Amino acid sequence: MAAISIDRLQKAFGAFQAIADLSLTIADGELVVLLGPSGCGKTTTMNCMAGLEAPTSGHILFDGRDVTAMPPHQRNIAMVFQASTLYPHLTARENIAMSLHKSALSRSDVKRRVAEAAATVDVTPLLDKLPGHLSGGERQRVATAKAIVRQPSLFLLDEPLASLDASLRLTLRAELVNLQKRLGTTMIFVTHDQTEAMTIGDRIAIMRGGRLEQIATPDEIYAKPASRFVAGFIGSPPMNLLQGTVVEEKGRRVFTAAGVRIDLGAPEGTELQEGAAVTLGIRPEHLAVGSVAAASGITGKVFAVEHLGRESILIADCPDGTRLRAMLEPGGGPRIGDEVSFVVRKGATLHVFDDAAAGQPAVARLLS
Ligand code: ATP
Repeated sequence: MAAISIDRLQKAFGAFQAIADLSLTIADGELVVLLGPSGCGKTTTMNCMAGLEAPTSGHILFDGRDVTAMPPHQRNIAMVFQASTLYPHLTARENIAMSLHKSALSRSDVKRRVAEAAATVDVTPLLDKLPGHLSGGERQRVATAKAIVRQPSLFLLDEPLASLDASLRLTLRAELVNLQKRLGTTMIFVTHDQTEAMTIGDRIAIMRGGRLEQIATPDEIYAKPASRFVAGFIGSPPMNLLQGTVVEEKGRRVFTAAGVRIDLGAPEGTELQEGAAVTLGIRPEHLAVGSVAAASGITGKVFAVEHLGRESILIADCPDGTRLRAMLEPGGGPRIGDEVSFVVRKGATLHVFDDAAAGQPAVARLLS
């Protein structure tokens, strides 16, 4: 088990800066998900931690010890990738035991450790099979046994479930989290699937363009996204984002856009200039659909209604082209082509992002 500290990490490939400047700390026993769009530098970060890439600058520390220049095999790390790396000519048992071939363990200790690891991930009945005779999910389980048999201090998992079908993915996802909690081993898990990140991470580190946008618990990221990018990236269905300006009216802030007027309440946090261009973020569950002209002035034409059983999602296009989503109670409701008005629900959180600062800081977060 290890606490990890990444300190001002940079990694360039020629003139291209894959990791621009990354600092983050991960507590011993924590499961942190690295989340971000394709090419944002997740795998490069993992490779630097594993010692497979040498950082251009910066430091990586395990339990306070600088491992930046340490070769991979001395770092006591286990990695699991999307396509598991099993030797096709070796049985599952031999594959798992391969992880221990450099250790000084006796044959009986190797046998015991392999049996324990296999039992932990429930592959004991598969031990004498060749990888080619295993299903995709079984192969990933054997790869996991191969990773845990060394009792590493850190697990690095790079999209380990990406090649599996949806239901197997859900099953293995729960198993991995359960395993990580039972073993108490620090784990870093890479994904570009935000739902996966939200369901498994103790904390989520959201990356963009080789930088860290935000690191926080799933709840905190959902409730308090630190930037417009995070706001738009986290949440399914995604947060509604409206472009407009802020004006002051009788000591209150008001968001205005074509025909739209939303009271943001009393000023809070950093002052916004009168007329500042902002993006207003409202989660779909905080918007309701009214049949009559609503006070917000937000209107739209229904594009689609998605029925999900427990709730339905209404998707509508506003006159300025913005596409909005609102959660509806199941059954009934508007149909495609209907004109609808939106109301901001009581108690809704409104997120205001400063466009002048590239949507970076959430300058105000106000309850309506
Ligand atoms: P994905 O989700 O698609 O796997 P990622 O977030 O893991 O993406 P990386 O694989 O870390 O992204 O790549 C970050 C950037 O660095 C990308 O633009 C990629 O093209 C570039 N890159 C990665 N490895 C190399 C390399 N060996 N040489 C040159 N460029 C590289």
